[in-house]
Amino acid sequence: MKPIIQVKDLSVAYNLGKSSEFWALRNANLEIEEGEYIIIYGPSGCGKSTLLYCLSGLETPTTGAVVVNGSNLSKLNPEEMELHRRLKIGIVFQSFNLIPTLSVLDNITLPQVFGKIDKQTRVKIAMQLANKFGIGDFIHRFPKELSGGQQQRVAITRSLIYSPQILLADEPVGNLDSKSAKITMEFLTEINEKEGKTVILVTHDPSYLHYAHRVFYIKDSRITKVVTNPKKNTPAGQVRGEITELERISLMYPYLTEEKLRAKMILNHILLPHGIEIYDKIEETISRYLAKKITEKELFEILDNPPVNLYVQTARNITKKAVELASEIDVLDYEKATTTDISTEERVVNLRGFLLDEYSGELTVQQIRRLDIVLLKRINGEIKKKELQDMLDAPFKDGGVGLNSRTAQKFTGQIELVLMNK
Ligand code: ADP
Repeated sequence: MKPIIQVKDLSVAYNLGKSSEFWALRNANLEIEEGEYIIIYGPSGCGKSTLLYCLSGLETPTTGAVVVNGSNLSKLNPEEMELHRRLKIGIVFQSFNLIPTLSVLDNITLPQVFGKIDKQTRVKIAMQLANKFGIGDFIHRFPKELSGGQQQRVAITRSLIYSPQILLADEPVGNLDSKSAKITMEFLTEINEKEGKTVILVTHDPSYLHYAHRVFYIKDSRITKVVTNPKKNTPAGQVRGEITELERISLMYPYLTEEKLRAKMILNHILLPHGIEIYDKIEETISRYLAKKITEKELFEILDNPPVNLYVQTARNITKKAVELASEIDVLDYEKATTTDISTEERVVNLRGFLLDEYSGELTVQQIRRLDIVLLKRINGEIKKKELQDMLDAPFKDGGVGLNSRTAQKFTGQIELVLMNK
């Protein structure tokens, strides 16, 4: 299948030649097939939006090329570029960009005002689309009368008015509460699967990665890896061929470097000669035990019998460890706070509450703020376990949270455990 988008050696510099010259993207190479759902993932400021805007034609490459449907965007004249943006690409943003003084219907028909379609036809097309996408009931309301989730649904519907093949979304759920975010992500999946649109979405939140067929990881202006989701079939309903074990592990640990992933893979082979499926089964079994869905005895029996079939001593050790962990942390209570249904900010607050409820010392307001920042960084994968512990431990005046070493170590263990179970 010919790719719908090809990006060749794309680099983008801002303020080229000035002392403030900054390369927001370096040597990006990628191909996207029609009907794929792609997520561009990475920490804030890494170059995700720059890549997205290059695909839309809103940003011009400094070097390299973006080819959409066979056309090199740099070679389009202004009229062709305008048609590309209007007809080939739909784009949605974090801020929904609806015009407050216009009704939902007028907001949806707005892009067509610049086309040559008469008003009656515009309204008819908009109504059909609105009904199809579940916003027909509030077509005559104004944006401020809608919830955030409904406004984003309107914005997405508007972006599809010309039936573009490609939908670009820049942090589309960044402004939404967790429930609306989930509904919106599911809506985008529907648009990908039922409407066959190629969806390319930018996010810094790892909890959304499972929605995509493939994830492009960006760090410091470079694509560092591309990971295929083993749980989703490719577009056109084909069952995806075997994905590599490295890709599977990579999805499980989104923030590990390539070398660490390889090390983990080798370790898995040594520790788990039956392969990663058994590893998944062990992980799922431990999760069920921690969630009190199975007993200690059942945990041991699953580990000891086929298909897991661990050596009896290994099964015993794992069971013992799980029992110890369960007593250290009441995962069941915590589960409410760690489902993917809640936003990152809520997760930080819940996680902090969980840590401090059990903590006999007192933190200052400033320390609590700093703790939140550190938790956010860890949840987003911007820092690793070691850095987390160091930041909890470091004195407040040096930018740390200022906990004593034992507490920093204990909190780190609890945080890691919780993140493992989310
Ligand atoms: P992300 O979407 O990953 O948060 P962006 O692609 O928006 O990151 O930005 C990447 C980097 O480029 C950031 O450090 C940002 O400050 C810088 N940048 C973005 N736009 C401009 C601009 N117009 N001028 C100068 N620097 C910019």
